[in-house]
Amino acid sequence: MSRRRFSFIRSIIPENALNFSRRTRFVRESMIERIYPPRIILPMKQHYGQEAVPIVEVGDTVMIGQCIGAPVPGTFSAPVHSGISGTVTEIKTITLPNGVVTKAVVIESDRKRTNHPSIHPRTNINIDAKTVMGIVKNAGIVGMGGEGIPTIYKINRARKYKVNEVLVNCLQSEPYATCDLYRLCETPEYVVMGAVAMAGVIGATKIRFLISESRKMECDFLKNAIETIKAEHPQFQYEVVLFKDRFPQGHFRLVARALYSIELKQNDTLENKCSAVLFNCSTCNSVWEAIHDGMPSVNRVVTIAGDTTSSHNVLVPFGTPIKDVLSKMSPVFSSCRVVWGNALTGLSCTDMDTPMIKTTSAITMIKMIESPKTPCIHCGMCYDACPVDITPNICYNLIENGFDNKAELENAMKCIACGACSYVCPAGINLTGIIAGFVAKNKATTTNENKNLITYSKEDIDVTDVSLLEEYAEVGSNSDDEYKDDESIELPFEGGRFI
Ligand code: SF4
Ligand code: SF4
Repeated sequence: MSRRRFSFIRSIIPENALNFSRRTRFVRESMIERIYPPRIILPMKQHYGQEAVPIVEVGDTVMIGQCIGAPVPGTFSAPVHSGISGTVTEIKTITLPNGVVTKAVVIESDRKRTNHPSIHPRTNINIDAKTVMGIVKNAGIVGMGGEGIPTIYKINRARKYKVNEVLVNCLQSEPYATCDLYRLCETPEYVVMGAVAMAGVIGATKIRFLISESRKMECDFLKNAIETIKAEHPQFQYEVVLFKDRFPQGHFRLVARALYSIELKQNDTLENKCSAVLFNCSTCNSVWEAIHDGMPSVNRVVTIAGDTTSSHNVLVPFGTPIKDVLSKMSPVFSSCRVVWGNALTGLSCTDMDTPMIKTTSAITMIKMIESPKTPCIHCGMCYDACPVDITPNICYNLIENGFDNKAELENAMKCIACGACSYVCPAGINLTGIIAGFVAKNKATTTNENKNLITYSKEDIDVTDVSLLEEYAEVGSNSDDEYKDDESIELPFEGGRFI
């Protein structure tokens, strides 16, 4: 392992600002708590792209791992599976805190926890690349660090550019967040094997695990898992790369700067400029769960934490309402603001029926203290905190006064919505909300995301193709053709949220 520690110049250094390290110290739990909610509200859009189409009807009985929503072939999308067994009681339209309006399938649990007959561990894992790609695609795996990009899309793009390195993002740097670190401690071999599987499919020769230098215990688990696995897979070079503690860390532009000293421009990607592709460590874990256990993406580890509660990781099926997760926690005070996501990049949420989705890595409770708001005092702290070198106070003023073109000239579009500027601002100015909102509004009018907003129905889908995981492997063999690369797609913040 290299002794060099990587980083870049700006952003927040925990010791001087948030002192994250004390609060996020991971306390090892002997067994993760699993939440079995009485019902789930399963959104059909939990990813970046076209929403899936419900292929069940009210009254249908469903099982764990069964496909509930299927992508229309040829669209940029991902299937959605049930994490509980029970009965479909309603299909309705909901709005998520990030503004996404989507159909959602409500499933009442039968409390039997019955797996779909297609779910069984795979005895022979010596499968070819196309089968792996079919599994990844049809298991509905998407970037779980917050970006929500269907993983098959990133694999295809990496194959197109013949990338040489798979980077595994274990840089969980937000305050309180520990769900990825939990994965590293509990199932490190799944994380490593998921990365190995993807490196094999992509044709990469090197796998690098990026982790903060303060995460010594997690680092040890990772290194042990690598040692165990590397004898069986000697064709890859493995490396654990230490980063200095900082927030934010995981955005691909910041990784490019820290690791390769390359400044990526607007349409540049890690794949085409650095010959590398970045996957979140929970995503790698899900990939191996799908390959080895035969289980599609139905649940995830979520950190419940904040000012008023001790940090805790729970395993929740997608679609679990916030209220069912919080009911398992130590008392939550009504004076708390509930954040859907992490403390800095998450979104405030008042509807406790809001479901956990594939990209929700945390529920964070923050004390409701309204800090005094004053005009800007030109202290420059937001500039120092901004990891992408823009001047937040200037961008904010330009946007607020309607000078959109000038804001673009000030590089406002480079904002990755990390929340650091708002956090450090002593004047309590909502810099992130305004600048990130400006970026989201502009991107929505220029990307394919909105061009694809076509309403599909169940009739558009051949349901026989999407009911069993094993059948997916066959169907998925053409995934190269179905996911044409689209250079206009700007990947959202890995560690942030999809729009
Ligand atoms: S939210 Fe945007 S403007 Fe603010 S620090 Fe992060 S990247 Fe910079
Ligand atoms: S941190 Fe706040 S007060 Fe300081 S320059 Fe930026 S906007 Fe102004």
